[in-house]
Amino acid sequence: TVGTDWATAWVRGTIDTVSEHRAELISLDREIGDADHGENLDRGFQAVATKLDTLTPETPADVLKMVASTLISTVGGASGPLLGTAYLKAAGSIAGKTELGSADIVALLTAARDGVVLRGKAEPGDKTMIDAWTPAVEAAAAAEAAGADVPAVLSAAADAAEKGAADTEPLVARKGRASYLGERAIGHRDPGAQSSSLILREAAIAAG
Ligand code: ADP
Ligand code: MG
Ligand code: MG
Repeated sequence: TVGTDWATAWVRGTIDTVSEHRAELISLDREIGDADHGENLDRGFQAVATKLDTLTPETPADVLKMVASTLISTVGGASGPLLGTAYLKAAGSIAGKTELGSADIVALLTAARDGVVLRGKAEPGDKTMIDAWTPAVEAAAAAEAAGADVPAVLSAAADAAEKGAADTEPLVARKGRASYLGERAIGHRDPGAQSSSLILREAAIAAG
């Protein structure tokens, strides 16, 4: 199982990876959006870093709830409310728990994905962050059903999210700014799918 230390390590890893990949996410968004995705997320997670220093979380959900409210209030752009809702629903799915097993992790990832869908109404194949989250949820559920422990469930999710993000390249976008481009979006990776795969990789690293 994993607990509050895992959630904190996941968030710390995410702060760093978003900062390291800021320029890459900006350039992906320059191709099919408005070139601010790296900036948006980095602003949000730097605000998370500041709050993390004063937070004394008792449960993993406490950490995720703080991330949710911080992203919603500091990230301008579509990704703030979308990811904010993901963290909020993830927190709700594990409320009160101090130790999370494989089934809890599947529930958390499913709730996060469902939160993005609730907010943004995207379907798989629309060339959005959902194309990272949905394969991640499916791979996590399959790993859990096969008896995988938490680190193995999370690395299956991260591997599937990475592939899902790469698989957005040939797609035409049906949601978000990239949808205005029609066929010109073909050949470019969705920035939100890429950042979601980075976030999910950190969840696995924090558990390993
Ligand atoms: P903005 O488009 O407002 O500048 P960002 O650049 O921060 O916001 O985020 C863009 C990302 O948000 C896209 O790459 C896509 O993954 C995601 N996105 C946009 N609209 C939706 C939606 N309706 N559902 C899911 N994800 C979406
Ligand atoms: Mg943008
Ligand atoms: Mg923008």
